[in-house]
Amino acid sequence: MTVLSSDEIEPKGVLSADAVRSLEHLRREMRARKPASKNASVDAGKFKRFYRSRAWRAARYAFLKTQPRPLRCKCCGATAAHARLVVDHIVAIKKDWGRRLGQANLQLLCDDCNLAKASDDSTDWRTSDAPLPGEPTA
Ligand SMILES: [Zn+2]
Repeated sequence: MTVLSSDEIEPKGVLSADAVRSLEHLRREMRARKPASKNASVDAGKFKRFYRSRAWRAARYAFLKTQPRPLRCKCCGATAAHARLVVDHIVAIKKDWGRRLGQANLQLLCDDCNLAKASDDSTDWRTSDAPLPGEPTA
């Protein structure tokens, strides 16, 4: 990160007194908005700790034991031979913290599908009727 000196941001003698006053006002407003981003980073820490927790690892392991082999992404059908598979929260933990350990809120996705789904999308791919690639259509 490059830290600009006040001379670089506001070259002396270029700004009028009015401009300096409105800049000061803007700065005060931006400082007042800080708490929101501070909360976001507190939440990020909470989620990070959760994914490292024994409780999450136990829930993840219990879920993986119930999955048919070979493990497959429930969205695109990729197997672990072709993609990294992850246990996804159908409803993101930042949307519903109470369901973070619930088996019914978990599905297997590959990295690509998981990143594309992101936390705003709550699609439950387990209920998809579409045959997986390579699977015989009945
Ligand atoms: Zn996938």
